Amino acid sequence: MSRASAMGSRTLVGKYELGRTLGEGSFAKVKFARNTQSSGESAVAIKIIDRHRVLSHHMVEQIKREISTMKMIKHPNVLNILEVMASRTKIYIVLEYVGGGELFDKIAKDGKLKEGEARRYFQQLINAVDYCHSRGVYHRDLKPENLLLDSQGVLKVSDFGLSAFSKQEDGLLHTACGTPNYVAPEVLNDKGYDGTASDVWSCGVILFVLMAGYFPFDEPNLMALYRKIYNADFSFPPWFSSNAKRLIKCILDPNPLTRITIPEILENDWFKKDYKQPCFKHEEDVNLDDVDAVFNDSEDYLVTERKEKPVSMNAFELISRSQGFSLDNLFDKQMGLVKRETRFTSTCPANEIMSKIEEAAKPLGFNVHKRNYKMKLQGDKSGRKGQLAVATEVFEVAPSLHMVELRKTGGDTLEFHKFYKTFSSGLKDIVWTSDSNKEETS
Ligand code: AMP
Repeated sequence: MSRASAMGSRTLVGKYELGRTLGEGSFAKVKFARNTQSSGESAVAIKIIDRHRVLSHHMVEQIKREISTMKMIKHPNVLNILEVMASRTKIYIVLEYVGGGELFDKIAKDGKLKEGEARRYFQQLINAVDYCHSRGVYHRDLKPENLLLDSQGVLKVSDFGLSAFSKQEDGLLHTACGTPNYVAPEVLNDKGYDGTASDVWSCGVILFVLMAGYFPFDEPNLMALYRKIYNADFSFPPWFSSNAKRLIKCILDPNPLTRITIPEILENDWFKKDYKQPCFKHEEDVNLDDVDAVFNDSEDYLVTERKEKPVSMNAFELISRSQGFSLDNLFDKQMGLVKRETRFTSTCPANEIMSKIEEAAKPLGFNVHKRNYKMKLQGDKSGRKGQLAVATEVFEVAPSLHMVELRKTGGDTLEFHKFYKTFSSGLKDIVWTSDSNKEETS
């Protein structure tokens, strides 16, 4: 099987060396990468999209316009697009890399935020949304997966201007996890809507979740959930201040015409407390030749994904990387940052590891798809668990020593953490930890 040798090869796209998968959204895979020609900061994230899906799309012009605009936008709270490349089969969107994980991982880990902290993130979110709207770009699919933090804890909104990618053949927006918890009522009935007002609604849901630690609209049954959203049927927990409640009520107004607008939010007393003006560089001369080439189907700029010959992996390096990971804790903590993946080592045979994972996942309502030593765990669509998807992979590090990787590839982060607690306890007896690590963790 030796997936280990495949791990050792280098994959290059243009000047970037591709690394591990950071996440999988509804329409793309996101990989960590390094710019091999950079002398300074070389870390980037590359969003990889199926080219045919985009170029056969009737929205090519809109996508091209929005990506061009986003490449020009340099706002501290908007994830920066650095470059766009294409191969014959894929489009690569090179983004600034942020290492602080998703904002909602923080909530899943530490629970709801204090009002002041929630307000600080909400102010940054509104600044980002306001700025992009002023440039004619709407998000249309704001949700926790799109709220990332950099290493200083600054909020960065991702996927601005990329919503057209997640529109399917029927023209409707399909959120990554298939749940409309964050979607405005007028988007649900898709009778043509104003991107400004529907983004404001999603910001209101996000603010509620930050302060409450749970969704304002949450029903296991989709129809019941739709009904609650249409009627803005929700209640506040007792710890919300009356000013915060008043603002959220004006945001979660089911009528987009009477819903509070961003200029009004900027004037709101609760919002204005401790507000700091965003300071950012204005766009310099940004070169858009790459965007033109990709969307005009030009052959001149095509890149290829090429694999360089495998370099031998040092098994001990891998083992030592894995020792610190504990199954009790989903968060792979590195320098205080969190990621939504974890690894562990096991001395059990690969087949046994695969069966144990399957045994642990099935009672939790997950369908298991196996391919070689990879497995996808897909929740049952009818339930709330249906939103979740988990990818696992078993690597052979040395004879009779395996490394297992687990990664959330879809679904709601809050729910994933709940699932993970139960799931990991079912895997305890196959995890191997060295004696030194046992001492450390005991
Ligand atoms: P998305 O398709 O944008 O929802 O991305 C899927 C996941 O990949 C996100 O939820 C993040 O965890 C991760 N991700 C996306 N973009 C970046 C980035 N620029 N830096 C770091 N992680 C990212």
